[in-house]
Amino acid sequence: VAPKIQAPRGTFDVLPEEARGRAALEHLAREILEPAGYGRIETPAFEVTELFARGVGESTDIVQKEMYTFEDGGGRSLTLRPEGTAPICRAYVEHGMHKQPQPVKLWYLSSFFRYERAQAGRYRQFWQIGAEAIGSDDPAVDAELITLLASLLDAVGVEGVRLRLSSLGSPAGRAAYREQLQSYLRANEDQLSDEVRNRIDLNPLRAFDADHPGTRAVMERAPRLLDSLAPDDAEHFAEVRAMLDEAQVDYEIDHSLVRGLDYYTRTVFEFTSDALGAQSGVGGGGRYDGLVEQLGGPPTPGCGWATGVERIRLAAAAQPTAPTPVDLYVALAEPAARATAFGVATEARRARLATHQELAGRSVKGQLRQADRLRARYVAIVAADGTTTLRDLAQGTEEELAAGEVVVRILRERGMG
Ligand code: ATP
Ligand code: MG
Repeated sequence: VAPKIQAPRGTFDVLPEEARGRAALEHLAREILEPAGYGRIETPAFEVTELFARGVGESTDIVQKEMYTFEDGGGRSLTLRPEGTAPICRAYVEHGMHKQPQPVKLWYLSSFFRYERAQAGRYRQFWQIGAEAIGSDDPAVDAELITLLASLLDAVGVEGVRLRLSSLGSPAGRAAYREQLQSYLRANEDQLSDEVRNRIDLNPLRAFDADHPGTRAVMERAPRLLDSLAPDDAEHFAEVRAMLDEAQVDYEIDHSLVRGLDYYTRTVFEFTSDALGAQSGVGGGGRYDGLVEQLGGPPTPGCGWATGVERIRLAAAAQPTAPTPVDLYVALAEPAARATAFGVATEARRARLATHQELAGRSVKGQLRQADRLRARYVAIVAADGTTTLRDLAQGTEEELAAGEVVVRILRERGMG
């Protein structure tokens, strides 16, 4: 026997029952985001590698170790998209969306690819729902986006949701703070983990993310970015908070909140769920006022978030979704009735009746059992000469008619004809 082939590590198949749950989630996302003015966008599954190198940041985990990068037949370096914001900003510039009324509000549900250590809630191909509002630095944009994600998580039934919020200020303020933090880290070098010590130059802010006990103790006394925000950044953050208070969205200010992407400015936030274990992040995002310009567009503010579909599914109380109810099961009284029965099934489907037909060579008894299992409303047992017995399984009634009358009969009885 040939050896079995399995799905690659960190990937999974979405089988029909799970697909129905995910479709329900997609439906909720659409119902929440479209009326708020967000239009669906889909970008390619791969982009030129430079987009992510520039747009996500060379010092990030994503660019340093998580990208699926390959060369195509033409020798170009391409990368399977690890996140959605940089591609959407690329599309914003490419399609001249700065000429539209601002902000341009977009949402997506797409799959993303990261070479990570696969475990529950962490995959190498995963799906995100995301929203971006590009072209306005109004704090109401930040508050609107955060409130919409809170509504989505609530509507889906994600349990134990907490929102952490912070501000990273502007690049200039952050640079000054960065130096201050670097001197502090160097002064306490002996207590830090190797990883953090090696990254003092490259990305000192990540020290706030560390699990290492010694590092954590040092970070508790570290200087805080929030305390050194420039006045206009502090004002922006205060307005975002006031709007969230007004909207009664609960949050905690978290000084240690550092988002994994380099491009964030001002507001950053993360939603976690107590229902998840180690991979507790359900969604997060922030403002990225420098990104569009970094990608070759005009200076343009932006803000957005992404939430993980698999983590939502893990953290939400299971809501069983039933398969589409079956209106009609077309059964064969004898094998020679195949073509006639096929005609009935096709006519029924064209009339939008949910119709199954016999495809497994079952006996008449077996076919009736199958119709029962599917909870079909009607069974039509078709003979080769077209004589058909139509059973209403809900009423327990039965009548004889011609094959060509079956669909009209059902439609009339259901008040559809
Ligand atoms: P984490 O800290 O868990 O690695 P992250 O900061 O890398 O998350 P983001 O890039 O902000 O995550 O992506 C937003 C959301 O996408 C996360 O909150 C999470 O729900 C989901 N997500 C991120 N990476 C994965 C993955 N490898 N598998 C499944 N979901 C993921
Ligand atoms: Mg990550």
